[in-house]
Amino acid sequence: MNREHVYDRWGVPEVINATGTKTRIGGSRIRPEAVEAMADAAESFVRLSDLQAAASDRIAEVTGAEAGYVTNGAAGGMVLAAAACIAGDDLGTMSRLPDTTGVADEIVMPRTHRTGYDHAFRTAGASIIEVGTNDRYLGTGSRDVEPWEYADAIGEGTVAVGHVYKSYGTPPLAEVCAIAHEHDVPVIVDAAAEVPPAANLSWFTEQGADLVAFSGGKGIRGPQTTGILAGRQDLIRSVARQQLDMHAAEAVWDPPSRLVDADSLDGVPKQGIGRPLKVGKEELAGLLAALEAFLEEDEDARAAEWHDRAERLSAGVAAATGLSARVDTSGRSVAPEVVVTVEGDGSTADLVGRLRSEAPRVFVGADSIADGEFTLNPMCLTDEEADYVVERIVSLVDDVADDDAGTGGAGTGDDADGTVGGE
Ligand SMILES: *Cc1c(COP(=O)(O)O)cnc(C)c1O
Repeated sequence: MNREHVYDRWGVPEVINATGTKTRIGGSRIRPEAVEAMADAAESFVRLSDLQAAASDRIAEVTGAEAGYVTNGAAGGMVLAAAACIAGDDLGTMSRLPDTTGVADEIVMPRTHRTGYDHAFRTAGASIIEVGTNDRYLGTGSRDVEPWEYADAIGEGTVAVGHVYKSYGTPPLAEVCAIAHEHDVPVIVDAAAEVPPAANLSWFTEQGADLVAFSGGKGIRGPQTTGILAGRQDLIRSVARQQLDMHAAEAVWDPPSRLVDADSLDGVPKQGIGRPLKVGKEELAGLLAALEAFLEEDEDARAAEWHDRAERLSAGVAAATGLSARVDTSGRSVAPEVVVTVEGDGSTADLVGRLRSEAPRVFVGADSIADGEFTLNPMCLTDEEADYVVERIVSLVDDVADDDAGTGGAGTGDDADGTVGGE
């Protein structure tokens, strides 16, 4: 951790990432194979449609879907998925999105699947039609959405069903797909953070999903700005037509037919809604290289590495006075996460905040600080960094305990004994 970083040049502190594949601190460690492919791709030019067509073939093989596309993150893939479901092959609608005046634009989604990421659907012009209730979350009942509610909400205006996959979600994805397909409506799945395991690359398609969005920069460890969209050939064709740069002279426009099928169009599409979601040749090459390396990886070895690191983190912090820890394998994250409980009032946010304001910054998971907990995720740490994180937490928890006890100053660790949780 003492080596010079490029960030030093700008006076920006490095981050030690103990919270997993979070975009706001850089996502994941890109694979060396991807970096090498990106450097190689940077040396020369390629027609992007050719490279996307090759990527489409490979993604189809890997996912079992008819076709695929390399997108600008999973979120970019969701914009394109919605755009494809709204516009299909219609040149006029493609050119007008996100204006959907006069065309169907509704995506049916359970209330419990609404997240900040569905702004991506709305960016393409979709209106979200919510179904179900929040009873399970609020504890006012045991249910969220019923199969019949999907069927009830699907109508003339529906272009897709939206589904954010979590292993504990109900009803099962296969059932949702069956209902949607009975009504001739495609299902878009947000599976951004659902790999590994590699088997999940094809699982969603097997359940019947028509378009599936994965992050390229999370568990796959490709370039951070990439994503994968896998799905029906006609929908991926619409995606390509709306994403590729279309400042082409019609007389010589000859994109790969299996991806764009220019012959079936009355003319060259305009720059589409997806044009700002650019994916460069370097990112495309990097994602494809990362995908191969991801598929070749020994999954059992990686799972064991994450498990061992989680145990190491857990044992390390649990040894500190005032902290307890347990390893959570419930599936909220694809990796086991350590849930650390801070005993004593109000010190969790203080501790998490202090960790973040050090140099290097130490980021731990802060989603449940209001409950007196924070999380440690092994995915983006080396063992050396994990030890450093434990050392910083143990050291700071002593300081925080001292402050809470009104003793002030920097704690030595010894005088923290007996003061934590005492007030
Ligand atoms: C991370 C994430 C996204 C966004 O993925 P990007 O590749 O960063 O665009 C979307 N949905 C969910 C559920 C995610 O976890």
